Parts: sequence; structure tokens; C-alpha cells
Amino acid sequence: MVHGSKAPDNAAPKDLPALDKLLRECAPVVAEHGHTLVAREARALLDGLRARAVAGELPRAELDTLPQTLAARVTARMQPHMRAVLNLTGTVIHTNLGRSLLADAALQQVLALTGSPNNLEFDLATGARGDRDDLIEDLLCELTGAEAATVVNNNAAAVLLGIAALARGQEAIVSRGELVEIGGAFRMPDVMAAAGATLVEVGTTNRTHPRDYQAALNPRTGLIVKVHTSNYAVQGFTASVDEATLAPIAHAGGVPLMTDLGSGALVDLAQWGLPAEPLPQAMLAAGCDVVTFSGDKLLGGPQAGLIVGTKAAVGKIRKYPMKRALRLSKLPFAALEATLRLYLRPERLVQDLPTLRLLTRPQAQIAALAQQLLPAVAAAVAPRFTVEVVALQSQIGSGSLPVDRLPSAGLALSAVDGRGRTLEALAVVLRELPRPVIGRIHEARLLLDLRCLEEPMPLTSQLSVLKESLA
Ligand SMILES: *Cc1c(COP(=O)(O)O)cnc(C)c1O
Repeated sequence: MVHGSKAPDNAAPKDLPALDKLLRECAPVVAEHGHTLVAREARALLDGLRARAVAGELPRAELDTLPQTLAARVTARMQPHMRAVLNLTGTVIHTNLGRSLLADAALQQVLALTGSPNNLEFDLATGARGDRDDLIEDLLCELTGAEAATVVNNNAAAVLLGIAALARGQEAIVSRGELVEIGGAFRMPDVMAAAGATLVEVGTTNRTHPRDYQAALNPRTGLIVKVHTSNYAVQGFTASVDEATLAPIAHAGGVPLMTDLGSGALVDLAQWGLPAEPLPQAMLAAGCDVVTFSGDKLLGGPQAGLIVGTKAAVGKIRKYPMKRALRLSKLPFAALEATLRLYLRPERLVQDLPTLRLLTRPQAQIAALAQQLLPAVAAAVAPRFTVEVVALQSQIGSGSLPVDRLPSAGLALSAVDGRGRTLEALAVVLRELPRPVIGRIHEARLLLDLRCLEEPMPLTSQLSVLKESLA
């Protein structure tokens, strides 16, 4: 018996080419990518083939196309794991899909500035060392009415830094109704501990009163913290103390008031028929010393944590050593500044900011797109699936405004055999497209909410691949 070759059309280990020979046959690939990568992939390829040959499971025909196989492997290896996808989940600011989309102005600024030296920490007027905060502080103050502002890596960092800078080694008072967890490891009690502050809980889950805060104030108190309960709603017999009521209580006790808004829209969303979110400017007007919010939620910019407030409080935060470790890097910094500048032209925001544009898209427009796409999508998934246009409810996402829904539309795909497993398989095929399509399965249908598809092309251009994959 010939070892490793159970059938005549299977290759034996000795049939595999030597590494050098394979590399010579792939000279153009080596010329493009260099020896290191191509040789590493060639070795891995040959190892895999050898194991299959030993097992007698390597069809000889595979050896005829080894150069092409290797070239494809090398190309695949150079594809980043992080890829553009189509978000047809119906959740506009989707935390798992990268949250807000950057405006064109922000994208251009990132491209222009990060491939070149820039004045990130250089004062062009004096030629001396500068502070990156100076590039953005005036703008943030103008937009929010704050005395001072700074930015860090994300809002979680802003909250951590704010508490550490203002209350490390002291007590920080928080209502029991606001001890939130915001996805993953960000839980207010843990953040307090990490910041070195002692959490003092007041009130109850559903009701907290001004007197609860007053009773907790003592000489060890460093800070009162309010947290916007953005990702859930407490309904029924509830009471909380708003910032305007709490600020005088904090100040009478000689401590600052910090509020974490989470999403923090910079403009009143109600003007576009969206649910209202508390604005940083309103929080500052109510007497808060520090307000923190995210850059990549409703603001529509890059991941960032924005901190606005009084000179005294923001000054302490800026000087706190942890700030250096949490500072915003130049890429998002460039994008953030460009995004904030768009807010100087509020009338144009709906066009300029993709997040706002998507959130305000009328249902009729989305439904028209669904109608337009229906025949082509139906043809691509036939005969195993049927497609219909349906009314849907989009969500804003990222914990903002959790109970509100936006009337939307999309395509609902149903398996002709009616089995759930078939739908799961379809979801897999959609995720394997060159630009993965992410929908959601709900009540035995795969739903593609088209709110976030502004152009048909990214979907229609992939329908032939989809049809082939399903064949
Ligand atoms: C989202 C959120 C955070 C965290 O913000 P990131 O920018 O994601 O770090 C903190 N607090 C609240 C209330 C939030 O909603």
C-alpha cells in the first residue's frame, strides 16, 4: 500500500512541490509583497496540504493551482479584519458597528491632517509648545456656553477622570436610581472605585429627593454626581432631583456637581421630530460644574469624551495626571474639531451630519427605496426565500432615548421551507458578502431595515454574489 494515497487521484506527500519551487512559480507575488509574507503563507499552505496528503485526502487536481491558491492566501492575509459593513439592523448609532458615521468634512480633515505633521501641540503664533485643548476649547465653549472645556478618549474616560480629579480620596454622592451599567464593564460603582472615590448612594431605585442629597453631604464629600439614565427608563412612581435643584444643594455644601449626559446632543433634536435629549448647555445653565458626553453618539463625531464646565473644575481635571493617559489622539481630534465646526451652521446640520441625516430620514423615502430594491433582491434570493416590503421601527441606539422608535421601512425575507435554520444560514451568507450585510432575525423573518442605506448601490452591487452563494 502506498502510504498517504488511498485513491489514485489523491496526491501523496512526495507530490508536493518544495517551498523554493513554489516561491519561484509565484515570483510576481513575491515581487509585490516581499519574501517574508509569501514564504510564511507558502509554508502554512504546504503544511496543510501535507497533512491532508498523509491522510489520503488531497485531490491531485489541487496541486495544479497552487500558485493561484498561494496568491489568494497572501491577498486575504493583507485584508484588514476591520471592514466596512452595511448596517441594516435598524439601530442607527450601533455600538457594535462603530457608532456614528463621520461627516465628509471630518473625513477630509482626518485625511489631510494625520498624514502630515500638524500643530497638534504647537502654537503657530508664538512658535512655542502648545496644548491640544487650545485648538478646540473656544469652539466647545461657544457651542455650550461653558467657561472651559477639554476632551479625552471617550466619555467613560471623561467620567472616570472627572470623578478622580474632583473626588479622589473623598466621597461622591450618587442617587440609587442612577447607578447605571452602560454595556460591558462600565458600571458606576466600579468606576467610582477605580477613580478612588467612595461611593455614597442616596435615595431608592425609583425615588430620590433633595433631602437625600442634603443628608449625605458631610466634610468628606468631594462631589455630587448625576448620571443620565440613557439606556433604560424608570416609569411609574418615580422622582429624581434635577440639576437645577441639585446645584444649589451641592454648592451650599461646598462641592461641585458633575453630570454625565452619555449621549449629549448639542442641538435640540425635537426640532426634527426626534425625542428631546438633555443638552450640555442646559446643564451648565442649571448650575452644573462639569458636564461630560460622548463624541460618537448623537453628536455624530468620532469616539471622544467631551468635558465642559467651570474654569475651576475643568482646570482641576486638566491638571490631573490621569488626563495624560486618557488624552484624545490626533486622528479623532482632527475629526472632532471638524465635526464641532459643523455645529456653527445649525441650519445645515441635517445634510452635513450623517447620523442626524439618517435619524431624520422620512419613512416614505425609506419605503420608496425598499420598493425599488424589492425585485432585484427577490430575484437574488429566489427560490428559497421570498421578500416583501414591510414597515419597521428603527432605534436611535447607543443607549440614547431607549424607549423611542422611528417609523422606518425595509425588506423582510422569509424562508420558503419555513425553517429557522434556513434563515440563520441566510444571515451567515449575508455576513460573508464582500461588504457584509447585517440585518436582524425577528419572528421567523430576516429584516433589512433600510434607514441606514442611503444609496442602493452598496447592496445592489452585491446581489449577484449573493445569488451565487445561495445557488
Ligand atoms: C455611553 C455612555 C457612557 C460611555 O460613553 P463612551 O463614549 O461610550 O465611553 C457613559 N455614560 C453614559 C450615561 C452613557 O450613555
